[in-house]
Order: sequence, then structure tokens, then C-alpha cells
Amino acid sequence: MIVSLVYLVFHYSFIDDCLDAYIVTACLHLLDLSDIDEISSRKQTLFDILPKEEQNSFISQISKVILEKYIKIPNDLPTLSTETATMDTQKRQIEAMFDNRQQRYVCEVCDKQYKTANDLQRHLKDQHLWNITENSGVNIP
Ligand SMILES: [Zn+2]
Repeated sequence: MIVSLVYLVFHYSFIDDCLDAYIVTACLHLLDLSDIDEISSRKQTLFDILPKEEQNSFISQISKVILEKYIKIPNDLPTLSTETATMDTQKRQIEAMFDNRQQRYVCEVCDKQYKTANDLQRHLKDQHLWNITENSGVNIP
């Protein structure tokens, strides 16, 4: 129970971080910026002296473009959960290859032995063409 809760929190914060980074990147891309400190060529001139309503509409216009152009949550959400599910499945499969008696990870395909889950993961990727999800979080001591 606690373990699944930890996984849940891990996945939540992982997705949360992704979204934050994604939105920042979307802003940079939209405003033609290569760096977060750069000044946009699409900067609204004299933004500070505009009336509040115009400031708001400028910001909400940018937000809308970002939402429509970059985010489209309804399309991306199934992909995201599929990837998360794949991560979980791979993690469980690798955990299942741990041999308690030998205290080693044993490849289920070719019986090669590895000390760490990461080594086995690399082996599965290189030798058995596993499609390992980047940052799969497989980190078993
Ligand atoms: Zn193998």
C-alpha cells in the first residue's frame, strides 16, 4: 500500500515537472526565445503603462495560443498514461528477474547475470531490443 502510494507520488511529481518544463519551453518557443532571460521580439511595448484590461487580454491571448498550439491535453493524456504504464511494466519485469538465491539479476532470455538493475536494463535494451523508456526510474540497489 505504502509502496504504491510512493509510486503514485513519484509519477505525479514526474508528470508535474514535465508539464512545468513543457509550458516554459512552449512559452520560449512561441516568443522566439532561446533563453529564458532573453527579451522577446514579440514583447508588447510599454506593457506596464497599458490599462489592466489590455494587459490581461495580452496575457490571456498568449495563454490561449500556448494551450491550443502546444498542450492539447485530451490528445496527449492517453499517450502519457501509456508511457507511465510501460515504465511500470518494465520495472516490474526487471524486478521479477532478480534471483534471490544468487543475489543477482538474471536475464530471462539468455541467463546472463548482472549485479544491478541498471546493468540488466542496458543489456535488455542492447541485446534484446527492449524499448526502454527514458528515465524509466528503474533504480533498484
Ligand atoms: Zn539476455
